[in-house]
Amino acid sequence: NIAVGIDIGGTKIAIGLIAQNGEVIAKSSLKTDLSLEPGEMLGQVADVVNKLANEQGLALNQLKGIGVGAPGPLNTKTGRLTCPPNLKSWWDYPVVERLAELLPLPIRMENDATAATLAEKWVGAAQDADHFIFITISTGIGAGIYLHGKLITGSTGNAGDAGFLIVHPQGPIAKDQASGFWELLASGTAIAKQASELLGKEITSKEAFDLAAQGDPVISPLIEKVYTYIGMGCVSLINLLDPSKIVIGGGVSQVGEPLFSAVRSYVAAHALNPSGRETVIVPAKLRQDAGLIGAAALVHCNY
Ligand code: ADP
Repeated sequence: NIAVGIDIGGTKIAIGLIAQNGEVIAKSSLKTDLSLEPGEMLGQVADVVNKLANEQGLALNQLKGIGVGAPGPLNTKTGRLTCPPNLKSWWDYPVVERLAELLPLPIRMENDATAATLAEKWVGAAQDADHFIFITISTGIGAGIYLHGKLITGSTGNAGDAGFLIVHPQGPIAKDQASGFWELLASGTAIAKQASELLGKEITSKEAFDLAAQGDPVISPLIEKVYTYIGMGCVSLINLLDPSKIVIGGGVSQVGEPLFSAVRSYVAAHALNPSGRETVIVPAKLRQDAGLIGAAALVHCNY
C-alpha cells in the first residue's frame, strides 16, 4: 500500500514512495531545470519513480497512485499549472496528462499548501481537528482549508491562497500595482526585504528575527509589525471560516514561541467572538518532507 508523492517546486522537484502510515520509504529529488521543456523534466521525474520502485522490488502496478503537490495558481480541473510565478516556463502545461502518459497510475494533483493541509490532518498537528486552517509562511504565504472533515479545494483547486488576502490598503508593490497582499508584508521574503531596506544591507529573515530577539531598535518594531500582519490574516481567516485550530508551518514558523505568542495575543484581542478568540494556534508537525507527505496524502486519504 505505497503511494508516489511528487512535490513540484521552483528550485527542486522531490519524489518519494510513502507508506500508508505516512512513512517516507524512499526519496530522491531533481533540481528544477527551467531551461528544459516541462514534459522533458517530467520524463526525468518518471525515470526517478521507476528507479525508486525498482529499488524497493516493486512493479509500477503495485503502487496505489501518484499524488502531485504543485505551486498555484493552478487548475486541478484541467490538470494544468495556470501561472505559478516561479515556474513561468510551465504556465498552462498539462502536468497531469503528461504524467499519465509516462506512468500508468491514478493521479491526483492539488496546490502544495492544500496537500500539506491534508498531511497535517493525516499524520501531523491537526489529527484531532475537523475544522482547521493550515498556513505556511515561507518564501510566500499559502494556506489550506479543512472544514467539516473535508478538504476545501474550491472550483479550480485554488481555495486558501491566503497569501493574496489584502491586509493593507496600499502596501508594497506587486507586478507594478500597489496591492497590500499578506505575503508581501509577512512572508520570509517580505521580512528579509523590509529588514534589508531598514539596515541598508542585505540580511535574511532569520537574521532579522535574531536581531529583534536581541532588542535591535530598528528591526524590533518591524518584527512587531510582521507579527501584527500575521495576526491580521489569522483573524480574517478565523472570522470567515470558524476553525477550531490554526496550524502554522513554513520556514518562518521556526522562529517559534515569540511568533506564536504574538499571534495568539492578536487573535485573542481581535477575533469576532469568544470561541474565535480562543482558537488553538499551533506549529505544524511536519517539516522535512512535508511536501512529499502532502502529495502522498492525496492518494492515501479520502478528501
Ligand atoms: P520554501 O518556501 O522553499 O518552502 P521554507 O519553508 O524553508 O522554504 O521558507 C523559506 C523562508 O523561510 C525564507 O524566507 C527563510 O529566510 C525563512 N526561514 C527559514 N528558516 C527560518 C528561521 N529559522 N527563522 C526565520 N525565518 C526562516
